[in-house]
Amino acid sequence: MKKYFACHFLGVSLLTTLFLCACSTPSIDNTASVQPSSFALTQTTTFGEDFDFPPLPPTHSVSDEFWDVSDVDVSAIDVSRRLIAFTFDDAPASTLENILAVFAGYNEANPDCPATATLFCNGNLFDENSIANLSAALTLGWELGNHTYSHADITTLSESELHAEIQRTETLLSKVDGKNAHLFRAPFGRINDEVKKAVNVPIIDWTIDTLDWTGTSVEQIYDVVFSQKFSGAIVLMHDGYPNTVDALKNLLPDLKDAGYQITSVSQMAKVHSCRLKNGGAYIRARKQGNG
Ligand SMILES: [Zn+2]
Repeated sequence: MKKYFACHFLGVSLLTTLFLCACSTPSIDNTASVQPSSFALTQTTTFGEDFDFPPLPPTHSVSDEFWDVSDVDVSAIDVSRRLIAFTFDDAPASTLENILAVFAGYNEANPDCPATATLFCNGNLFDENSIANLSAALTLGWELGNHTYSHADITTLSESELHAEIQRTETLLSKVDGKNAHLFRAPFGRINDEVKKAVNVPIIDWTIDTLDWTGTSVEQIYDVVFSQKFSGAIVLMHDGYPNTVDALKNLLPDLKDAGYQITSVSQMAKVHSCRLKNGGAYIRARKQGNG
């Protein structure tokens, strides 16, 4: 995991920059964040236009320009609740089975407010056992996303290498869930215009970074999510750390008690009427239209 350290730090810096540039009405208290304070802020980002979601028309028309949510099942979402999307990167990893058990136990006890999540997968981690776990995630209503094949810094790759990183995992994901397109998250959060063109699906960044890969404690993971939560936020976690599993045991019921329902990214985008542009980069999916 050491290889992730330096580059994840860069990713955090980049994404923090994106958030600050994009957020006209700040909804989280950054002073409560555990994010590093040494990042350089610039105004050179070109992603700003992607953060304003046009409201859905009365009848949702499917277009190649936007992420198609027509088959996303939101029947179990309580629209009166605030929504928060949970995402797990570098999947499928060692504690995914334990995470799924936490969700399954919670959902059984809370059928009125079941929780789901989005798993961003690396194709090179697929084997018989991990694919079985991905299938189990699907039965819980989870969504699978693409996190490249080998977790490379894709901003440094040639066009053909970039396509290979994306397409190899697309093919594997399609075999598991039968879908022909998957949301994308770039390793280390590193994207550029070439990546946006090559991906041609929404690129999902994040609002709340638990930094669980750095060895943060159960309490720190819990606190950063709970203190920064807002309706439309996207939480970044990883499925390979026991502390994440333990934090989830309290986060799931406590977020429910706080009026939230935990969803996948596509579920939240659909319920919040956020049309995600293919090739656009997003750090949140706030409710659009009335209310
Ligand atoms: Zn990653």
